[in-house]
Amino acid sequence: MKAQVLHSYDDDLTAKSWLSYEDVPDPVISKGSDVIVRIGGAGVCRTDLHVIEGTWRPHMDPHGNTLLPIILGHENAGWIEELGPEVEGLQRGDPVILHPKITDTNVLRRHSEDMHGAGPLPGLDRNGGFAEAMVTSARSLVSLPKSLPPKEVAPYANAGLTAYRAAKRATQKLLPGQTCAIIGAGGLGHIAIQIVRAMSAAEIIVIDSNHASLQLAAECGADHLVKADGGEVDAVMSLTKGNGAEAVLDFVGETGTTSKGLAMTRQAGSYYIVGYGEDIRVSAFDLVINEKNIIGNLVGTWAELSELMELAHRGLVQLETQEFDLADANTALRALLEGKIKGRAVLVP
Ligand SMILES: [Zn+2]
Repeated sequence: MKAQVLHSYDDDLTAKSWLSYEDVPDPVISKGSDVIVRIGGAGVCRTDLHVIEGTWRPHMDPHGNTLLPIILGHENAGWIEELGPEVEGLQRGDPVILHPKITDTNVLRRHSEDMHGAGPLPGLDRNGGFAEAMVTSARSLVSLPKSLPPKEVAPYANAGLTAYRAAKRATQKLLPGQTCAIIGAGGLGHIAIQIVRAMSAAEIIVIDSNHASLQLAAECGADHLVKADGGEVDAVMSLTKGNGAEAVLDFVGETGTTSKGLAMTRQAGSYYIVGYGEDIRVSAFDLVINEKNIIGNLVGTWAELSELMELAHRGLVQLETQEFDLADANTALRALLEGKIKGRAVLVP
């Protein structure tokens, strides 16, 4: 089959291209619970750029380049091609979206936090979906209704799921009349706006430095748009009568958004951090006297992915996607690096 393969890291992302489009052996079933999925679409993610530049190397590949070569792609959806002998209840041809983690077979985990257990992450530590097909475990699959074609929903597997978990946590506390500030209206942020809109009656303020992203935020249901030009904390304070927002969702997590995000969080409010790149610096005194909560968010559970598919099926969340041929993976990655993707890029074999 054809696949996009990473052969070497590129610390400063200055190479002309990073992945090589080549023929590789077809994936094979090696465990009874394995499933081969024919890829319908694979989302292109900032995490792919982080893998390429070696950010994940100390964690995933500490002993030299033992991880390479690898096929990236951790936001995958497609159709079941082949089932391992232990798999029940699924059929060849079923459309599915893939939870990014392969969890163990302890059924109790199903109701718990899939992403914290041990287990491989296809596209990060074994071959993923920038290919015509890939292997995962039957436990990772969420069946798709006919209303949701795989290539149109693939980015929900990770970007959407991450946005969903953070936005769901915020909406579980947000009351009508309260405010949710969302920093960053890119691939994750534009999904989060719709989720907060669908699951709460809070006012939504969206902050972004990019004009096109703010336009997308307005289409997604934002009540107020704030251009990130240095005055964003003041703007949010004035929109909230000097109080700040009860919930702040930060999808950027670098270039100073963490201190600004905390500054625009109301007393006893919660700052949900999703994007990463800088350290959060705050004095214990400030946290105590203001009773602010800082909450980390990692992907989401299998159950949350199926909840998100319900929202998508009902038309309450829609993905803005830009389609690229699998052969053009490097073009898509470069467009993402240069901030030229509106919504989310998807590779289609
Ligand atoms: Zn991702």
